[in-house]
Amino acid sequence: MIMYPLMAGAAPLGAAVGFMSWAVRGKSSAVFGPSRWHGDRRRKALALTFDDGPSEGTGGILDILAHYGVPATFFQVGAHVERLPEVARAVAQAGHEIGNHSYSHPLFCFRTPGFMRSDLERAQAAIQRHAGVRPEWYRAPFGVRWFGMGAAGRRLGLGGVMWTAIGYDWKQKAEAVVAQLTPAAANGAILCLHDGRELRVRPDIGVTVETVRRLIPILLDRGYRLETVSRLLCPTN
Ligand SMILES: [Zn+2]
Repeated sequence: MIMYPLMAGAAPLGAAVGFMSWAVRGKSSAVFGPSRWHGDRRRKALALTFDDGPSEGTGGILDILAHYGVPATFFQVGAHVERLPEVARAVAQAGHEIGNHSYSHPLFCFRTPGFMRSDLERAQAAIQRHAGVRPEWYRAPFGVRWFGMGAAGRRLGLGGVMWTAIGYDWKQKAEAVVAQLTPAAANGAILCLHDGRELRVRPDIGVTVETVRRLIPILLDRGYRLETVSRLLCPTN
């Protein structure tokens, strides 16, 4: 009989844990602040996005984007922007959008609102100083949001962006990433790849470059227009 109250409590506890894990990491969760994960589903347009750069490999992606004349959005890490300011600037000068992906790529869960705000603020300052643009969107590292995230974004004038589909390009081969993202291509989709690997210096992003090389012609053949996140999410588009 002593076990009974514990057993009775197990189901609600499980539900609470399930809810919190979705709230923190779910792509469609806006529990910790406004967050977008797709654009207008009536328009045949989608956005390619890249996290964790700039890196030594970013130029390879810029070359392919330039070859097809399509824009993308790069959620840059402040520490990498300071490490490779010329690459950060080259992304902006090529006409791509730059978003904020934090300064030090931390897991934001269990962090204080002050920590989140100052980490995002530091990235914002680094991007503005070196790339010459002020991001309007942030994507939380690992897609993990926490209490105070929405207020931090509001204070910096940043909207939250997640993704419609993620390619797991840090742990799969290019064929698998393309196979994962191709069926996810749909009106308003935001596709997530990585031109860096968290805080790694000289990361091997060969899989990402190969994915982009294969994916862009497929998307264009299917008639999708590639847009920046701001353009894709613009309400008057
Ligand atoms: Zn990241």
